[in-house]
Amino acid sequence: MPVSLARRLDEVAPSATLAMTARAAELRASGRKVYTFGVGEPDFETPEFIREAAQKALATSSHYTAATGTIELKEAICRATERDRGWCPSPDSVTVSVGAKHALFNLAMVLCDPGDEVVIPAPYWVSYPAQWQLFGGKPRVVETKAEDGWRMTPSALEAALGPKTKAVILCSPSNPTGAAYSADELRALAKVLANTDAVLIVDEIYGELVYDGFEHVSFAKIAPELEDRLVIVDGVSKTYAMTGWRIGWAIAPKRIVKALSKVQGQSTTNPTAVAQAAAIAALEGPRDEVRRMRDIFSKRRDRMLAGLRDVPGIECDTPRGAFYAFPSVAGLYGIHHGGSALDSANDVALWQLDVCGIAAVPGEPFGAPGHVRFTYATSEEVIDEALAQLKEAVLKADRHPSMAP
Ligand code: PMP
Ligand code: GLU
Repeated sequence: MPVSLARRLDEVAPSATLAMTARAAELRASGRKVYTFGVGEPDFETPEFIREAAQKALATSSHYTAATGTIELKEAICRATERDRGWCPSPDSVTVSVGAKHALFNLAMVLCDPGDEVVIPAPYWVSYPAQWQLFGGKPRVVETKAEDGWRMTPSALEAALGPKTKAVILCSPSNPTGAAYSADELRALAKVLANTDAVLIVDEIYGELVYDGFEHVSFAKIAPELEDRLVIVDGVSKTYAMTGWRIGWAIAPKRIVKALSKVQGQSTTNPTAVAQAAAIAALEGPRDEVRRMRDIFSKRRDRMLAGLRDVPGIECDTPRGAFYAFPSVAGLYGIHHGGSALDSANDVALWQLDVCGIAAVPGEPFGAPGHVRFTYATSEEVIDEALAQLKEAVLKADRHPSMAP
């Protein structure tokens, strides 16, 4: 008899972002040239001053710390939030976890009872619905459109709220679209939420990665009236190129902090002590590396957009932040491949991987069929080379006659 696994697992698929990363790595190991636009992580090494601080901290980091992070790190998070986001939380409202993904997972665990609804605008980061589904939650997905800059309108939010709504998850700037809300747009959403008791979880992990002078505004700054049910999630992974260090946090009202602490105290205990020390160095250190990485991402974004828009059949709006382009690839449907015609974003992603070695994540698991996510955390040369190949492949491709461009 096979081991019977918990039924809650039936509801969720494995992470598509991680699956594409694994597939690209396999292909590369088999000797193929692969252009990696899959996983969403900076390709830079963690800045040297952070690694040096970690090396120093090794001498004194052998033991458990407080389960939700050291007071020194919590204080550094509060100072950095004040400096970068313009509002000042108190250290006892912070819980530090093993990455922002862990913080979001713990939030689902402490908030969700079976049958509770969580409002999630699509396209969404793949893990938001999956985490709530693991606890019996029901995602209430709100469609957004490229023409609206992939931003949820207040009326769409209002229509999705109901008696079972437990929480709303916003991500700004967004993975996978790069969409970001202006202060006025956030205010309009806050007004709708003022009449409810839904918890608002705002994932601001890409807050430092915004372009063309766009100003990221923290939800906590514009809607202090929601502070008793507002949770801000953030971390060092993206801003400081520290994905492997696994430090992220939630800034939450006291009752939620207490619940998160209980869960973490019974599960992981503290995030790695030396990684916490590295995170303090990152948050307190000089800012020029952060600016340098952002400027490089900004140039890569322009290259990525120009390259994608040059491919017949691909259309792409301009993302305001993060490091993703999220074009429509529906214009490529009909290309013949492996005995059939491309008919979904998943087909397109597999075709471009096969034909050009381009690894990017199809839109279906982000709740956005017809699109493919290209991460531009890779060099401009790689972007140019890969997209030139994609264009050539599209121009050379056989198509079903009724679907010719
Ligand atoms: N939120 C979003 C929107 C992300 O893209 C990621 C990237 N994995 C995370 C949270 C989690 O980041 P981490 O766990 O590395 O802190
Ligand atoms: N956030 C990144 C992505 O979306 C990293 C992978 C993950 O944690 O899912 O690709």
